Amino acid sequence: IFITARTSVEDEEKGFLLGAADYITKPFSPVVVRARVRNHINLKIRTDILESVAHTDSLTAVSNRRSYDEYLPDMWNHCMRSGSSLSVLMMDIDHFKAYNDTYGHHHGDMCLVAVATALQGQIHRTSDLVARYRGEEFAIVLPGTPGENAFVLAQKACTAVQALQIEHNSSAASPFVSISLGVATIVPGKDLENAGIKALLEKADLALYQAKLQGRNRAVFSSQS
Ligand code: GH3
Ligand code: MG
Ligand code: MG
Repeated sequence: IFITARTSVEDEEKGFLLGAADYITKPFSPVVVRARVRNHINLKIRTDILESVAHTDSLTAVSNRRSYDEYLPDMWNHCMRSGSSLSVLMMDIDHFKAYNDTYGHHHGDMCLVAVATALQGQIHRTSDLVARYRGEEFAIVLPGTPGENAFVLAQKACTAVQALQIEHNSSAASPFVSISLGVATIVPGKDLENAGIKALLEKADLALYQAKLQGRNRAVFSSQS
């Protein structure tokens, strides 16, 4: 907010073009300045809340799909510039339809919250992102993380969900709620952003499918190059 003795329209235009939120000329009334500042602060608070709501999954409080869709291309470009690895974990709760059928949707929802919280607990870098991808599927984006490390994290996530010990009598994979994970890694390079991301996700999805086929409750690293 400019507070200035420059009163010409040209100066005011210049101030706003520079990105000012407001332009107040001297002599000013302290009451008016306080009112304007208060309005701007209220607007900022509301904008921040809306921004946060727009990027958060309302059930599990982890990032939502919108957030993930915006973040992945950003990190693709970031890793391409720095020549570092970009890893993605795709995960899916095992036999979750049976869980809902056995324990009811309310417990299903609580289970989703517990799993999401366990996943969030596995990441430690501010650049790592846990997102609810859809339904009972989650994704973790790990910029600057080589495949070996991403795979270790996937195994830890699998163990962490088992350690919740949420009873699941109708699961063939485990007495407790479990997840399957597919891990894929790339050093973004020659591929175009969209095609490259698509290929990376396909690899992670295929690895997840393998994890399901191999008996669930496990992580599989994409063997495709
Ligand atoms: P698989 O081990 O092969 O993944 O089997 P699955 O039963 O987990 O897979 P399927 O895709 O058949 O079922 C997914 C279930 O997830 C069905 C759907 O009702 C449930 N689900 C998705 N979103 C929610 C949600 O927000 N809350 C609850 N309670 N259930 C959900
Ligand atoms: Mg699924
Ligand atoms: Mg499932």
